[in-house]
Amino acid sequence: MADKDLEGRKALVTGSATGLGRSIALKLAERGADLIINCTRSLAEAEETVAECKKLGAETQLVAADVSTEEGCAKLAEAAASWGRLDILVNNAGITRHARDHADLDALTRQDFMDTYAVNVAGPFLVMQACKPLLEKTYQETGRAAAVLNVSSIAGVTGIGSSVAYAATKGALNTMTLSLARALAPAIRVNAVCPGFIGTRWFKDRMDENQYQRMESGVAESTPLKAASGPDDIADSAVFFLTDASRHVTGETLLVDAGMHLGYAPLVAR
Ligand code: NAD
Repeated sequence: MADKDLEGRKALVTGSATGLGRSIALKLAERGADLIINCTRSLAEAEETVAECKKLGAETQLVAADVSTEEGCAKLAEAAASWGRLDILVNNAGITRHARDHADLDALTRQDFMDTYAVNVAGPFLVMQACKPLLEKTYQETGRAAAVLNVSSIAGVTGIGSSVAYAATKGALNTMTLSLARALAPAIRVNAVCPGFIGTRWFKDRMDENQYQRMESGVAESTPLKAASGPDDIADSAVFFLTDASRHVTGETLLVDAGMHLGYAPLVAR
């Protein structure tokens, strides 16, 4: 059983019906936080996440809202306002268009860029804009900075990812993390995690079980730590930024990728 070190803290995790967002939400609930679970279309999965959080003792609200719109973000802020403040915000919602051959420029349209940018970059900005007074309230009431975590990707650091558009949005999110960490201090800390591979529906929905298993073992083989991450592996590192253990950390970007960004080890003649 985890320490209840987040008892009474109010947390919003966007895109938390599934995958990494769900895993982060459950880890926060385990440590005593109350939760806002957010989804767009995945209502059935969101309800499952809510039920799991409640089982862990968390007061939990479900808000169906699109983070790429001002109306959606206003709904999220309204839910948090019922608590009077927000201690933790995780900007996890994200989308991609799979276009893995980065030389095939025709694989992406202008609309693909706009859609991906709207969710992955404008989304976190709009959520922060809507929630800023509630995050500041935490600092005013407790003297403790509110914690914001942006879920980015190593694609934003290496330029290699599911598409050129996706990598560009995560690069932008990393830069926005720096801008806002500087601008919103001391009331709000803003950090980012950059996962490598995460075994979620992102891949599982696009291939059969056999193909997925082959891909997962290929990923594990290619990383220095010989591991393919699941949502819990990333969430364990992500939660660090949402607890007092990181109280003096802001503007940081942590790569959580089993060493994937290091590439292959140089061949050494033996
Ligand atoms: P996922 O599809 O399970 O999770 C993404 C969630 O975001 C979904 O629940 C989806 O409904 C939600 N979402 C999408 N658009 C939304 C919107 N406009 N408003 C609100 N919610 C919205 O996939 P995941 O792998 O868990 O992805 C979570 C995050 O991790 C994303 O930001 C993604 O870019 C990042 N990431 C994933 C991988 C990977 O390999 N899967 C690698 C690096 C980073």
